Amino acid sequence: TWPVVAVVGRPNVGKSTLVNRIIGRREAVVQDIPGVTRDRVSYDALWNGRQFTVVDTGGWVSDAVGMAAQIAEQAEMAIETADAVLFVVDATVGILDEDEAVVRVLRRSKKPVVLAANKVDDPRTEAEAAAMWNLGLGEPYAVSALHGRGSGDLLDAILDAL
Ligand code: GDP
Ligand code: MG
Repeated sequence: TWPVVAVVGRPNVGKSTLVNRIIGRREAVVQDIPGVTRDRVSYDALWNGRQFTVVDTGGWVSDAVGMAAQIAEQAEMAIETADAVLFVVDATVGILDEDEAVVRVLRRSKKPVVLAANKVDDPRTEAEAAAMWNLGLGEPYAVSALHGRGSGDLLDAILDAL
């Protein structure tokens, strides 16, 4: 069996778009409205001759109270069975409580974490990506899941973490 990478983060940061970028196909469901459920969340990926499994997360999250806790709980379940975690944040929005809730889960899990600062479609957004150093999870990889910017370096980092 191949090593497993769980992709976690709050809704709408671009996890599913990034999963599609990583697997090179459009199978993960991308939605403008956060919180979509889907049947299949596990995908096979290949990079530099190495195969691994990518697990997309982010089923239904109610926007009532306790949203951060719901997101953290989903992340926790996905992380349990993963060898490494790809934590996705939105560089154009910055760090929210929901992101911090996931960070606490990641710290407790002690699993290797690769941090993707997504939606850096343009070099002008690089500074916002650098602000993600403040999460305390090491280097933020600036990427644009939509356009593919930075995805090669990110994939290299994921393989290094496995
Ligand atoms: P998820 O909820 O974290 O899985 O996020 P999705 O992958 O469903 O994406 C949510 C929205 O963000 C969609 O409208 C995507 O097209 C958009 N999005 C994802 N990645 C990028 C990106 O790199 N740049 C921009 N501008 N939009 C993105
Ligand atoms: Mg999604």
